[in-house]
Amino acid sequence: MDLGIRGRVALVSASSRGLGRAIATELGAAGVRLVLCARDEGALQRTAADIVRETGADVDAIPADLSKREDVQRLLQTVLERLEHVDILVTNAGGPPSGPFESLDADAWDTAYRLTLQSAVELTRGLLPEMKRRRWGRILNVTSITVKQPVENLMLSNSLRAAVTGFARTLANEVAPYGITVNNLLPGYTGTDRVLHLAEATSRRDGVSIEEVQSRIESQIPMGRMGEPAEFAALAAFLASERASYITAQSIAVDGGWIRGLY
Ligand code: NAD
Repeated sequence: MDLGIRGRVALVSASSRGLGRAIATELGAAGVRLVLCARDEGALQRTAADIVRETGADVDAIPADLSKREDVQRLLQTVLERLEHVDILVTNAGGPPSGPFESLDADAWDTAYRLTLQSAVELTRGLLPEMKRRRWGRILNVTSITVKQPVENLMLSNSLRAAVTGFARTLANEVAPYGITVNNLLPGYTGTDRVLHLAEATSRRDGVSIEEVQSRIESQIPMGRMGEPAEFAALAAFLASERASYITAQSIAVDGGWIRGLY
């Protein structure tokens, strides 16, 4: 399928590995010019080189810590200086720490707010004016299945991703007249470092092996296995495409059937 986005410009935040990297690779393969960001410059440059080799895309890699507002502003300034605009914004960030309410102090909430909600809001604020002027844009927020069915022990993620969902749902109507769509992508359990770290934390907490934790997770997934990052990225590429021009304000899961609700 021709996605109709060859030559478009995408910023994919938190993209040195995992889901962000998979989305960037999929968009690069569709002929999109890419801007990647993550904290670790070395890892970021290696990922950028891999994506250039795999897809032939033009790739800029800009280090930034998304939990720091000044880094987000510097990232925006650099992107706009180099490329003048971004057509496709994918807001992604590392997941906030796991833990129940009483393990999290005010600083943990503050950092999680900056990482999960504020980074998505500020990236959108910086890039929206040019999308409106050009009357075309795609804003995709990577959230989680936790927005439809909260997961035990993920207090910060359960709370702040709901805020991103409210932000996106409200923004979608405000920008629809400009040909800009706003959608949320909800990863289920997908084989990345994040899932491994969460499984390690559960294994320590419950005194069981990591394999046991993983098989417990897989037993709750109708597909009987975790997803692959590329399976998640396929949805991102479609929603970013010209073909998805009438799909907005949606929260769509890629979870192998894990969410038990009707929507
Ligand atoms: P990951 O840990 O594999 O990758 C996270 C990426 O974010 C890396 O590139 C890392 O360098 C970058 N990053 C982390 N903190 C950052 C910061 N402060 N500033 C800039 N970059 C930063 O995680 P993932 O599995 O790819 O998950 C991506 C998002 O999706 C996370 O928010 C995660 O919680 C969420 N999620 C993942 C799953 C899953 O099963 N993988 C499920 C639900 C939700």
